[in-house]
Order: sequence, then structure tokens, then C-alpha cells
Amino acid sequence: MSSSDAWIPYRHPQPAESPPELIVPDAIPKDERVWVPVGDRVWFRPLLLCASRGYWMNLLKVQSAGVLSRHRHPQPVHGYVIKGRWRYLEHDWVANEGGYVYEAPGETHTLVVDPDVTEMITMFQVNGAMIYVDPDGNVTGYDDVFTRIEKCRRHYTANGLGAGYVDQFIR
Ligand code: FE
Repeated sequence: MSSSDAWIPYRHPQPAESPPELIVPDAIPKDERVWVPVGDRVWFRPLLLCASRGYWMNLLKVQSAGVLSRHRHPQPVHGYVIKGRWRYLEHDWVANEGGYVYEAPGETHTLVVDPDVTEMITMFQVNGAMIYVDPDGNVTGYDDVFTRIEKCRRHYTANGLGAGYVDQFIR
């Protein structure tokens, strides 16, 4: 880029159909009420709930050791471990603090947090759905971006943030 136009911003409108960008200044929230409980000392924090494309970005926080869930992924998942450590019973690798994880479509696995981990926080991009299964793969439940939106709405209604609080994360 020549020096004369390097600092000139793009001077045309963005496409009309392009949704507004989303900036979350405190991904790890200062207000604890933003964490949505989904189990015993297990929470998620929505970052982007992409209803139009069927995926979501969130932080998962776990402060209890044990099995979180056994699930199948119809589509890929990307994870970045911000704090702590976790692993899958089906694999010998460990997702350590600072690590990146790619989970392949078709994978069924069982997420565990070991007893010496006091807190685990991981950012996940989950595409499509989490399909919860028993050890034989029989479906016991699911989550998708719509169940996540519903869980947020219910929690924020109950804790005073308000039903509309979740809307800022939806695209
Ligand atoms: Fe997974």
C-alpha cells in the first residue's frame, strides 16, 4: 500500500445485508450474572449466538471435577483453553491451558475435568449441535444455538439482567 492511502479508511458503505459486528469487551465478565448455569458448578458465557448460521461462540467454565457430558458432534468444534485443563476419555491427549483444540465432525467423546483442576475456562465455537448420548451412542438430548438462546433468556429473566439481555449476542 502506498504511503499516501495507507491510513485512509474504506470510503464506501458496507453491504446492506452484512450484520452488525459484535464486540464483547469483557469476554470473562465482570458481572457474574452473565454466566449461565448448565450443571453443578458448570456455566457458559455467550459471546456470539449465531442463529442465522446455526453455531455459537461461548466460554465454558467448570469449577467441579468429574464427567461433564458425553456427546457427538455433527459438525466441527474449535476450542481455546484459557484456564485449567480438561480431556476426553476416548483420547490420550490433554487440552492444557493455552492450547487449541479441533474436534472433528462425527466424533463422540466424553469430557472430563480431573480433581486437581480448581477451575477450567475454555472458549468454544460449536457448530450445529451438541448431541448428548449414552455409551452406546443412543441420543439422550441435544443443544443447539436455539436451546442456548433459550437458556440465556430464562437465566437473565430470573436474575434481573432481563430477557432482552441475550439479544446483543444474537446475529
Ligand atoms: Fe466435544
